Amino acid sequence: MNNLFDLQGKVAIVTGANTGIGQGIALALAQAGASIAAVGRSSMDDTRHLIEAAGRQFIEIKADLGTIEPVGRIIDETLQSFERLDILVNNAGIIRRNDAVDFTEEDWDAVIDTNLKSAFFLSQAAGRHMIGKGQGKIINIASLLSFQGGIRIPSYTASKSGLAGITRLLACEWAAKGVNVNAIAPGYFVTNNTTALREDQDRSAQILARIPAARWGEPSDIGGAAVFLASKASDYVHGTVLPVDGGWLAR
Ligand code: NAP
Repeated sequence: MNNLFDLQGKVAIVTGANTGIGQGIALALAQAGASIAAVGRSSMDDTRHLIEAAGRQFIEIKADLGTIEPVGRIIDETLQSFERLDILVNNAGIIRRNDAVDFTEEDWDAVIDTNLKSAFFLSQAAGRHMIGKGQGKIINIASLLSFQGGIRIPSYTASKSGLAGITRLLACEWAAKGVNVNAIAPGYFVTNNTTALREDQDRSAQILARIPAARWGEPSDIGGAAVFLASKASDYVHGTVLPVDGGWLAR
């Protein structure tokens, strides 16, 4: 069958795949047929069970993406295990909250290094391989803060706005070489990233009231967009940031 969304035989690296949005994406890619190399610093056991239950191959690569030191090893271990690399999902990310007037250099550097610097250099390493093969799909996990300012998260807004820019730059350089670089901008999702926000009853209610879909997103809401951007269905889609936000940006 000629299924535009089929990922059978493909290999995907997903960073931060132990939980939340990364786990949702890893599972959706596996259900579409891909083998998964899950990268992160915490146990991947839950994700391993989900992927293997879906009948797909799974490896875990231990790496702290707070620095770019593990970047080369992540690509090498993936190729050693699977002998190919088709898809990279730069999902690992952190957030630090404080008023701009009090924001520290440590909170600035930690977020920029993880969310932006590691994503760029992992894309560079994957891109070198993909360009050599004449094909590949890179998906960056951006944010509504790729479009909006937000409050009390200056380094997060800078990192996600920067990631949208890097998505466009890499698309411009690599589109003609067969590599698609795109991003997904999740809206407000129920994950560890938003625990503090959801515990603030006033902010949580304000956010919910503004979402046209009238609910927060769940990790299972993100997989369809990831499968689309990882598959043949998106071969002529380059440099876009696709919101999956319950209509937030349409408001
Ligand atoms: P999450 O549950 O906190 O997941 C973040 C993931 O990144 C975890 O797997 C985490 O691993 C990993 N990570 C963080 N720092 C790392 C490091 N130094 N090295 C390796 N892995 C690291 O939150 P999430 O919402 O699923 O976040 C996933 C992505 O979606 C992030 O890029 C986030 O900015 C983005 N996003 C989330 C929302 C939302 O509403 N939730 C909205 C827009 C964008 P550990 O478990 O080991 O910390």
